[in-house]
Amino acid sequence: MEAYRIKVVEPIPITGRDQREEALARAGYNMFNLRSGEVTIDLLTDSGTGALSVAQQAAAAIGDETYAGSTSFYRFHDVITDLTSYPHILPVHQGRAAERILFSALLEPGHIVISNTHFDTTRANVQLAGCEARDLPCPEAKDIDGPYPFKGNIDLAALEEALKSPDADKVDLVIMTITNNGGGGQPVSMANLKATAALCRRHGVPMFLDAARFAENAWLVTQREAEYKNNTPREIAQAAFELADGCMASLKKDGISHMGGFLGIRDDDLANRCLNLLTATEGFRTYGGLAGRDLDMLAQGLAEVTDPRYLRARAEATAHLAELVTLAGVDIVQPVGIHAIYLNAGRLLPHVPPERFPGHALSCALYLEGGIRTVEMGSLFAGEVDEQGRLVTPAAHELVRLAIPRRVYTKSHLEYVGQVIADIAKYPERVPGYRVIESPPILRHFNARLEPFSTSAPL
Ligand SMILES: *Cc1c(COP(=O)(O)O)cnc(C)c1O
Repeated sequence: MEAYRIKVVEPIPITGRDQREEALARAGYNMFNLRSGEVTIDLLTDSGTGALSVAQQAAAAIGDETYAGSTSFYRFHDVITDLTSYPHILPVHQGRAAERILFSALLEPGHIVISNTHFDTTRANVQLAGCEARDLPCPEAKDIDGPYPFKGNIDLAALEEALKSPDADKVDLVIMTITNNGGGGQPVSMANLKATAALCRRHGVPMFLDAARFAENAWLVTQREAEYKNNTPREIAQAAFELADGCMASLKKDGISHMGGFLGIRDDDLANRCLNLLTATEGFRTYGGLAGRDLDMLAQGLAEVTDPRYLRARAEATAHLAELVTLAGVDIVQPVGIHAIYLNAGRLLPHVPPERFPGHALSCALYLEGGIRTVEMGSLFAGEVDEQGRLVTPAAHELVRLAIPRRVYTKSHLEYVGQVIADIAKYPERVPGYRVIESPPILRHFNARLEPFSTSAPL
């Protein structure tokens, strides 16, 4: 069970089917255009959506809003230094600011960044820096039904080949995303991280962590990697940071706060270049786009997030939802991670071909049936689309991500979600496909507008 009780509550909107149909049509059938007042259970993201603890609220009250040298910054700095061992800690307002600053300082246009899988904003920032974002997930990741415990791993053989190829001198950076958000929330093993770090060191390429879910990755290591079963999640997280030359982190996830991030760097010269960009574009080095109270809430959140009782309860809530969904006959990406479950929409809706976006279709059905907001991770998110919005290359899988905000929803909320999914799974053929009617060139899924091929009938 959860190792906390609830002290402050917030009503959730209960809507009618007509209201949801109208809202979704107005939103151009894009979940990002809905208003929160139209959503009953919001599983769009676990980013910035966590519930604060009493200790975090108390920490906010002592936030020091001094421009330079705020004591809040030093508390933030000390907690992160203890966790990461990096000599340079740069606060930023969220993860993508860390990406932009690091890439502007480190990458040369025309060069290459390699990752187990780039997260979508990471990929966009690599491309905006004029570089290629190359994903080398391990071969086991392709089999989304298989039990392999560390599908977040990078393909070490492919990485070695890339670092020995004629293009090798163009590889400016290797990024290990823990957990691998773009790859189904799957963890990276410590063995894979160690081997990657060794390869990178041998070839003189810096390795950075994209550490948005460092604590959840550490928890999964305690559960799945025998060598670490007696270590605490905190010890494992410390060992992971130790292996890297630095990290970019969104603290909207495992910082259990609404806003924040940081860039951690070992190299003095690189840190100086990043500091100049930080000051010019985010803020002075002791606040970097954050308020003093944010820095204090983050320092406290980072202390709470590695508590094994918290991590166990969170992992088990996700596993409970996964079990309900599986019992309803809906396949999900295996094995189950922590921050989300991923429904296999392609398999549930065989009558909707990839060019009609089955993941998006299921996501819309979840909203229309139950007011549940989710996000498509299939061909709309990752496929290639031409100027007319027609699908040219489909994604490998048509998935829907149900992200679980931290400490927000109870077991009965998750049981409601399981029930709505079970209702849809009884009549999947009633779910229509969609076409894109407006499509921006990058980060398409945030801004595209779509329409259904026919209106779906209520179940
Ligand atoms: C959320 C996330 C980011 C981007 O962070 P923001 O705080 O949303 O800007 C980068 N990488 C990963 C793996 C993430 O999950």
